[in-house]
Amino acid sequence: MSSTRTNYWAEVVVDSALAVLLTWEGWRRLTGGTLTAALAVLLGLFAFSFVEYFFHRWMFHTRVPLFAEGHRLHHERPLGYDSLPFFLPGAVLLMLTGLCVLILPAGFALLLMGAVTFGYIIYGLSHFTIHHVRFRQPLLRSWAAHHHVHHYHPDSNFGLTTPLWDVLLGTHYVRQPRKR
Ligand SMILES: [Zn+2]
Ligand SMILES: [Zn+2]
Repeated sequence: MSSTRTNYWAEVVVDSALAVLLTWEGWRRLTGGTLTAALAVLLGLFAFSFVEYFFHRWMFHTRVPLFAEGHRLHHERPLGYDSLPFFLPGAVLLMLTGLCVLILPAGFALLLMGAVTFGYIIYGLSHFTIHHVRFRQPLLRSWAAHHHVHHYHPDSNFGLTTPLWDVLLGTHYVRQPRKR
């Protein structure tokens, strides 16, 4: 675990470089056309939305020490820079890419994992923005509120970029009617 600003932004740089590299290499090696590329990207982003939900619900809020400890710190001080060591997510994404290349056509697999990596970056930056920016635009406000509610009700609203999996899996926060 690290709580430094440098570690936090170093991870964004490493992950961004990895995402660009995977996407570039994937596009270069892709045997299908634009439609196949779009499919790989959409599939990658969709897969990431579930990975995000899965980790937050079943890894960060359970007893996997590496994740749970850092996430507890985030719940205590949402404006902090608590995050994993900067090289770790990139290393895991690279390993996953290796596995994907074994079972899928290389170009498709690289593009897919490029999209997963971009999804992870979008997630990280969204989370940062939600805690550091006050939105005025109603849609953005309700998007951010979904995560702010999670900080008050940690057993609901695990999805950050999208409420989709909370709605599908029954963890979407529903306000209880006030007792009279
Ligand atoms: Zn948060
Ligand atoms: Zn949480």
